[in-house]
Amino acid sequence: MARRESGKQGLSAVVGEVLFKAACPDCRARFELAAGALRLAIGGSRRSTFYSFTCPECGVAVRKPAGERIVELLTGGGVRTLRSV
Ligand SMILES: [Zn+2]
Repeated sequence: MARRESGKQGLSAVVGEVLFKAACPDCRARFELAAGALRLAIGGSRRSTFYSFTCPECGVAVRKPAGERIVELLTGGGVRTLRSV
């Protein structure tokens, strides 16, 4: 996972970089993920609309249902969106 550290004398604010809080159902780790670490799939139904990420702690692939608000949040934060059928 790429975490951009801006070490240039505090010049660059972290504008535009959104971190999403997530937790792993497997190892129960809690962490923050950048938009690039998340994937959002939007399907025709609620069941095919979900987001997924890989747990940085145990490496398991996590998939969770995404409601309307989560979809808005993720797309607004620049998460890559896939259309699933
Ligand atoms: Zn985990």
